[in-house]
Amino acid sequence: MPPAASALIHEEPLLFERAHQQEKAIDLPGVHGEVPEALTPFLRHHRTGIAGLSEPEVVRHFVRLSQWNYHIESGFYPLGSCTMKYNPRLHEQLARLPGLADIHPDQPDATVQGMLSLLYDLQQWLGEIVGLPHVTLQPAAGAHGELVGMMMIHAYHASRGDHGRKIVLVPDSAHGTNPASAALCGFTPVELPSGADGRIDLTALRNHLSDQVAGLMLTNPNTTGMFESDIAEITRLVHQAGGLVYGDGANLNAMVGVARPGDMGIDCLHINVHKTFSTPHGGGGPGAGPVAVNAALAPFLPTPRIICEEGRFHLEHHSPQSIGSMLGAIGQSGVLLRAAAFIAAFGRDHLHKIAHDAVLNANYVRVRLQQAYHLPFPGICKHECLLTDAIQNRHGIKTLDIAKALIELGFHPMTIYFPLIVHGAMLIEPTENESLATLDAFCDAMLAIAQRAALGDTDAIMAAPSNAPRRRLDETRAARQPILTAEVTT
Ligand SMILES: *Cc1c(COP(=O)(O)O)cnc(C)c1O
Repeated sequence: MPPAASALIHEEPLLFERAHQQEKAIDLPGVHGEVPEALTPFLRHHRTGIAGLSEPEVVRHFVRLSQWNYHIESGFYPLGSCTMKYNPRLHEQLARLPGLADIHPDQPDATVQGMLSLLYDLQQWLGEIVGLPHVTLQPAAGAHGELVGMMMIHAYHASRGDHGRKIVLVPDSAHGTNPASAALCGFTPVELPSGADGRIDLTALRNHLSDQVAGLMLTNPNTTGMFESDIAEITRLVHQAGGLVYGDGANLNAMVGVARPGDMGIDCLHINVHKTFSTPHGGGGPGAGPVAVNAALAPFLPTPRIICEEGRFHLEHHSPQSIGSMLGAIGQSGVLLRAAAFIAAFGRDHLHKIAHDAVLNANYVRVRLQQAYHLPFPGICKHECLLTDAIQNRHGIKTLDIAKALIELGFHPMTIYFPLIVHGAMLIEPTENESLATLDAFCDAMLAIAQRAALGDTDAIMAAPSNAPRRRLDETRAARQPILTAEVTT
């Protein structure tokens, strides 16, 4: 069956639906001679289920599907809280050098000194950047880093015989992984309501603090794009109550090279290196979430640790108070190498430019859009700007309609309906590497949508996208009832 095409976009069935019933994709030699007895249970008595298609048919199918993908290398990707940014080609090449890509995690230390040296340097650099000198590179993502951090905080309180601390405070603007990580560790997450300015409300914090609080998990700048300007007082209050402060470092882009979480009183922080230091991570991977801690938490870091003695590196497995090993290897080395290359390329003298330009770009977008769209928390934002659909609601237009209309105009939508603390959220993160022309084109598209809505010309917005191969999907059902395999007739 030939695929139905509109322009050059093919509408096509799954490979298994297209397979020619009587044709075989590959010819496997039959079984000759005696089958050893040990193998007889594995003899196949029915067709393999491999779709009967030729190689070009299969290759074209997958290449066509890949062209439906939108990605950071095909266009602007303003997803707030996800930091999709350019991944320099040079760093790809570096991570794929055979001497780095082809080694085995269980090789003797003496044969992987180069890799250990690079990862050791990365540990030192990350510790210096965030002001928390003791670092593990092991966690495989930000959320995994949160779990590692909360396990260390748990171990810290237990080591002091302080077993009554079961509560972890989490602001209502937090990423959903924060309360989940606390709960996975046996803590009870308790929601801290934000103040009217989108920041932590000091009175609410004081009211929630007690000798049952193990700590506070906080993101700074938080997910509304606002800097927690009371951070020094926040960390002081938590420490005074005997708790520790966990920093969600996903928004490090906003302050890398400018300000350090450790100096703000944060005890433990994960760094989403795939956000701040490149590596596109759409579709759930790959990533890495190194965790940096102060001296009080250092004994609990996962093992093995990369140790440097007299210029030689080795993996130290012995660490009596450690929470143990959190990954089969020392870390997601490919992602970590890209991060090391990214940091080295900027160097100590230029790293702050990431934060300056990321904040400048976000504020440029904010200022261009803040008349046309409702800005729930006025004032200067950090690296992402938060808008809502309140103005467009008057004409029946919702955030989802705006996102779909953006697709029609050639832009990937921003993050929508997150954070949850404002109704109809649109969180836009332009990142530092986007040009003025790109930002203007995006803002022009947003303003065109707002203008259409204001004129009551809403039909096209509500019907958008009309030219995309897929239009409005039941995303909830797709997430809850995914059909990942085709029924194969044998
Ligand atoms: C992305 C993100 C996380 C989770 O990080 P992953 O690397 O996706 O696991 C946690 N908190 C915030 C604020 C984030 O933006």
